[in-house]
Amino acid sequence: MTTEVADSRLAAYPALSAYLRQTEGPQVPPMPQAPPRTRPRPRPRATTPVPTMRVTPTALRNGILAGALAVTALWAAQAEPSARLDVLFATGAHLTGLLAGYGVLVMLFLMARVPAVEHGVGADRLARLHALGGRYVLTLCLGHALLALCGYAAHAGTDLLSATLDLLGYPGLALAGAGTALLMAVGVTSARAMRRRVPHETWRAVHLLTYLGVALGFVHQLAGPDVAGSVLTVWAWSMLHATVAVLLVWYRVVVPVRQALKHSLRVIDVRDEGPGVVSVVMQGIGLDELRAEPGQFFRWRFLRRRLWHTALPFSLSAPVRDDTLRITVKAIGDHTRRMRRLKPGTRVLATGPFGALTAHRRTKRKVLLLAGGVGITPMRALFETLPGGPGDITLLYRAGSAEQLVLREELEEIARGRGAGLHYLLGRSDASFDPLAPQALRNLIPDLAEHDVYLCGPPGMTASATAALGRAGVPEERIHAECFTF
Ligand SMILES: Cc1cc2nc3c(=O)[nH]c(=O)nc-3n(C[C@H](O)[C@H](O)[C@H](O)COP(=O)(O)OP(=O)(O)OC[C@H]3O[C@@H](n4cnc5c(N)ncnc54)[C@H](O)[C@@H]3O)c2cc1C
Repeated sequence: MTTEVADSRLAAYPALSAYLRQTEGPQVPPMPQAPPRTRPRPRPRATTPVPTMRVTPTALRNGILAGALAVTALWAAQAEPSARLDVLFATGAHLTGLLAGYGVLVMLFLMARVPAVEHGVGADRLARLHALGGRYVLTLCLGHALLALCGYAAHAGTDLLSATLDLLGYPGLALAGAGTALLMAVGVTSARAMRRRVPHETWRAVHLLTYLGVALGFVHQLAGPDVAGSVLTVWAWSMLHATVAVLLVWYRVVVPVRQALKHSLRVIDVRDEGPGVVSVVMQGIGLDELRAEPGQFFRWRFLRRRLWHTALPFSLSAPVRDDTLRITVKAIGDHTRRMRRLKPGTRVLATGPFGALTAHRRTKRKVLLLAGGVGITPMRALFETLPGGPGDITLLYRAGSAEQLVLREELEEIARGRGAGLHYLLGRSDASFDPLAPQALRNLIPDLAEHDVYLCGPPGMTASATAALGRAGVPEERIHAECFTF
């Protein structure tokens, strides 16, 4: 069943019907007699979720909190109760220092790209957690330094400046100070206002200083009283650092290199999909082994001039088939503009799959896929593959105008083939009629509250659609959103 937006249900809503007629006209035009190009026709095919180990967001949060409690217990076991000011400062410095050391490790772990965490929590949510947690960790680092200085000054009876100069005379503390300064630099370049101004590559290069900062901090912690106090704590603290280091090296270096050597991925086709949008089709060897699921993304590095130095995230816009992967890319910056000129034969290094916007999140028979702009890419793959009978799957595709719709032929063919609903919601985002308002959504899908909703679009649309879905009766835990920004 291919549904049309302006169907009988809308008769009672003249404003919406008029809007839809004015913006789009017939929703599903007749298919051309013969396919105009050698585009591989989508074979409607529903797949069941691949069983993969996944850490849920709740389990991750509980694990992090349990670790923080264990660190606090380690501090409490060694803290000596005292009413002396210098001891109070020192005790506070020890707690903040231990928590900062632990927090830095958690931040690195979140970015280690461990598949069970990536697939269960989602890269965008991990990035948000990392950004939020980073602020706490920096606050703890600064708090630790300040409390230690105050403790020393109170103990020696000097002012803070003299205390600072004295403490920097100790090589171990000077290194710790340098480590803190590096982490601060990382924090400053990551602040939202700065991040917008700094090119991604510069931001990334500064971010690499984190590793040096952490190494310096680790040396300082091993010498400090809390960890150095017992062989067991030195061993446990070192093991914790070693584990995170191994995970980072394994999943960020070894696995990508192995994947590159094994799958030998190359561009085989680049085709226009609409204004400023191209699909890049790549072929490799044994791609099924990647176990990439519809809705997921890879980080792609195209080995050609002025593109090789950056790995850009793009979602699969079609399921993996016949050893080919396809992405659909909107040109918004220098790198995405260059991708239009990729030549067949270009080698590609792909790392992944990442992301949790997959079939495993589904809890209901009925699913609404809601895409905005180029956010259609993961939705296109899910639209074809999410299991379901006629009427179970509906795709709403929001775009500024009909010209901006991409992959339209495929979407309509999938809708027809599997009896899914497909509606285009066209019009400027500042127009008086909002097709994503709660009532408008309920008019299109009367049993909306009985759906799982998968949502992908620009941050503004994602936020307003999430709020509207909530007001239309969809519980938060059934709204599965992914943002195309980290
Ligand atoms: C999980 C995910 C899936 C995505 N899927 C798609 C897709 O299917 N189709 C599509 O067109 N776009 C997708 N994007 C967006 C796409 O990655 C960016 O548009 C692209 O990286 C911009 O690169 P640029 O250098 O041309 O633009 P720039 O103007 O240089 O960058 C624009 C913004 O993109 C982000 N960005 C740039 N480089 C990187 C990088 N190496 N890693 C992470 N973010 C970066 C930065 O936030 C930057 O502010 C996705 C993004 C994410 C996070």
